[in-house]
Amino acid sequence: MITIKKTTSSRLSSLDSMTIEFGNVFSDHYYRQKWSNGKWHEANIAPLTDILINPAALGLHYGQAVFEGLKAYRGTHDNRIRLFRPDKNAIRLRNSCERLCIPAVSIDNFLEAIVTLVSVEHQWVPKSRLQTLYLRPLLFASEGHLSVRPANSYEFLVLAAPVSEYFDRSGPGIRLKAEDRFTRAAPGGMGAAKTGGNYASTLRPTGDSLKQGFDQVLWLDSYEHNYVEEAGQMNIFLRFKDRVVTPPLSGTILPGVTRECVLTLLDEWGLRREERRVSMEEIAEAIEKKYLLEAFGAGTAAVIAPVKTISYRSANIEFPDLGRETLAQRLYDELTGIQYGEIPDRHQWTVVVE
Ligand SMILES: *Cc1c(COP(=O)(O)O)cnc(C)c1O
Repeated sequence: MITIKKTTSSRLSSLDSMTIEFGNVFSDHYYRQKWSNGKWHEANIAPLTDILINPAALGLHYGQAVFEGLKAYRGTHDNRIRLFRPDKNAIRLRNSCERLCIPAVSIDNFLEAIVTLVSVEHQWVPKSRLQTLYLRPLLFASEGHLSVRPANSYEFLVLAAPVSEYFDRSGPGIRLKAEDRFTRAAPGGMGAAKTGGNYASTLRPTGDSLKQGFDQVLWLDSYEHNYVEEAGQMNIFLRFKDRVVTPPLSGTILPGVTRECVLTLLDEWGLRREERRVSMEEIAEAIEKKYLLEAFGAGTAAVIAPVKTISYRSANIEFPDLGRETLAQRLYDELTGIQYGEIPDRHQWTVVVE
């Protein structure tokens, strides 16, 4: 049961779709549910406001918090609202909770929260083919205490934000800086959990890279800073002449939903693909020999983002200009086609919200 209290002063009419970026605007309502005494309590959907928080909340001090990210799409032809594989986000949130000793939200509870919030906010799902309603589930330790231990109370929130695509699609592709000093995640760490701590550690190196004119950091392995891991909030793919390669889910990278969809589509299209480690040397050499054709990032926020260059130590690796005839474009068209209800959903990836 979710208690719904609607706003009497919606901000929707003052929303200018031209000014929507990624995460600068939020919808009218949010979802909130508390955990204490060993169980999840009744949930509310209410007008979005600041919330009271205990200044000793364990989530603030020791980072016991996890999140998710998924989108609601408005059908291009049928105007129906679709979610894309929300069950995958529910399962990943559960796995992230497990890693950080947070009581998990059940799959059904998660899906009910998402579906109900989207149906309350249906008018906030943008009409543009380049915009969506992004959903941000967040779970954090709210108990005020200073001991380093799992908390006895938690909050599960879901925010909704109309967003534009993360990277400008009209450009030639993104410029990545392969990071050879800092590390995002090490074996045995939290790299496979979607938790804020993994992002906090990237702010400094990412900021430095942006200042140097790059769009994003390409993370490398923590021992040698040589093997490719992932790019910002995207998993990375490389298309060699005869196969597509992506790093394996070794525990240091995030198991992306988009990544899994890409692998499924490659299998379906009969393209050879491998999950294996790729070194920077292999990339530089294959570019030189014209054996490596494309690289692209894959993630919910950026969808499929083609890579133009990778800078590594003193080398500048330039990908060839293949025009629009790229695997990245084909994947982008296929994924967004399914998400916006333009092509048949053969895999039952979408969930329609009435
Ligand atoms: C969320 C995320 C991704 C992409 O996952 P999707 O499920 O495809 O959105 C990739 N890398 C990191 C670090 C992430 O947090």
